[in-house]
Amino acid sequence: MLSTTTQLLRLSQGQLNLLEACPRKFQHTYLEQLNSPTNPEHEERQTLGSRFHLLMQQREMGLPIDSFLQADPQLQSWMAGFADAAPEILMSATDNQTFRESEHYRTLQIQNYLLTVVYDLLIADNQQAQILDWKTYPKPPHKRKLESNWQTRLYMYVLAETSAYSPENISMTYWFVQSEGKPQNIKFNYNTTQHIKITKKLNQLLNQLTNWLADYQNNVQFPQVAEGSKTCDYCTFAKRCDRTSVTEETANDPLPNIDSIQEVSL
Ligand code: SF4
Repeated sequence: MLSTTTQLLRLSQGQLNLLEACPRKFQHTYLEQLNSPTNPEHEERQTLGSRFHLLMQQREMGLPIDSFLQADPQLQSWMAGFADAAPEILMSATDNQTFRESEHYRTLQIQNYLLTVVYDLLIADNQQAQILDWKTYPKPPHKRKLESNWQTRLYMYVLAETSAYSPENISMTYWFVQSEGKPQNIKFNYNTTQHIKITKKLNQLLNQLTNWLADYQNNVQFPQVAEGSKTCDYCTFAKRCDRTSVTEETANDPLPNIDSIQEVSL
């Protein structure tokens, strides 16, 4: 089952993405904890990504990282590329008015759910707050796709709800450190209109989840996406759901691309 805190269900951006993409898949993955077949190449990329996140965290904490860089040419090249592309992010604040923290953790309760976010880096001063996120997979997704991902929506939403910053003073920037050529970034500026829209969408999704969970207690399964949906073509549960142009063994699920983002485990 999902982890709980005093009867609250903890939900991350990845779980919201899955719930929106296909409720049945959420059921299989989180309620029944059915694992997708592992893909060694994907795992290897994740390990390297986790190491980059850890390195950035250690750097931010002022711990030495040179020996790690020397031992790993890949990390060394990512770090050098990033330092070249965004030196201002690696610079420590010279005043004491700026707050910086890596792996910054926040929660927000809505209904019986505890929404959790972890920012790779939060930089905030008396005017604005910037959320930064490192991505280590090769190709940045389209901006529109990234904008609709729950990571972008939830991360800015939670900050607006749990701080004194107005939505207009919040931004989120993804850095793709491994992009061909040099690191690239995609930045989103938040605003009140988006905030209202996300409030509505989030409440709607959570209301649905509450109903589906109640039904599930009575042995009613979560809804599936419509027959013929492309989502099934790439789903590892296609066989289980009898949506089998693709089998569980061969499906190559694209969802983990952004949702199994290589984060540092806390
Ligand atoms: S096969 Fe289709 S219906 Fe079944 S969990 Fe996957 S996406 Fe949902």
